[in-house]
Amino acid sequence: MALYHGPRCRQCRREGTKLMLKGERCKTENCALERRPFPPGARQTKRRRQATEYNLQLREKQKIRRIYGVLEKQFSRYFDKASKAPEVTGDKLLQLLEMRFDNIVYRLGLAPSRSSARQLVLHNHFRVNGKKVNIPSYQMKAGDTIAVREKSKNLEAIHTALKTMKDTPEWLSIDKVKLEGSVISIPERSAIPIDAQEQLVVELYSR
Ligand code: SF4
Repeated sequence: MALYHGPRCRQCRREGTKLMLKGERCKTENCALERRPFPPGARQTKRRRQATEYNLQLREKQKIRRIYGVLEKQFSRYFDKASKAPEVTGDKLLQLLEMRFDNIVYRLGLAPSRSSARQLVLHNHFRVNGKKVNIPSYQMKAGDTIAVREKSKNLEAIHTALKTMKDTPEWLSIDKVKLEGSVISIPERSAIPIDAQEQLVVELYSR
């Protein structure tokens, strides 16, 4: 599936918020949004976009989609699934995105960003419940375990990411020595540190 390969910082500038797409760099003064806190494109700096209800809903959807690095079609499939679930649709949508394999690798601190996590997954560096899984969108379940593949245990990218990792979310656990982690439970909305109004996405798709 084709992915967005353009400048990642441009996406943050477009959404006017830090999407944290570049790991540690996002926390430094080199962050493009700190230096150029306006939308990309010279004309847009002069022209103010009308903040219609639709625009707000659309921007919120784009923001969430970009945070998780998911394409339009795939995002709409997540929404379909969430809307059929008994849970609150917005909460379920974020839960489905959080339970993606690449996101869990990132949350466990085994990669500095979701895009790096995606690369590591694609390159077969992990095992899920002892089996080879190299699909970034693979849906993890409560109780699943992730281990760094034996051959990849010395991979510098993983060790560097782990060193800079601060806190592991309460719904995950990680053994930094064995390089093994597990999903304790599906996160509640309050445990998902995403600054987004998912209700706007629900309204957008309900039009
Ligand atoms: Fe976004 Fe990170 Fe680039 Fe800043 S450095 S604009 S947070 S991707």
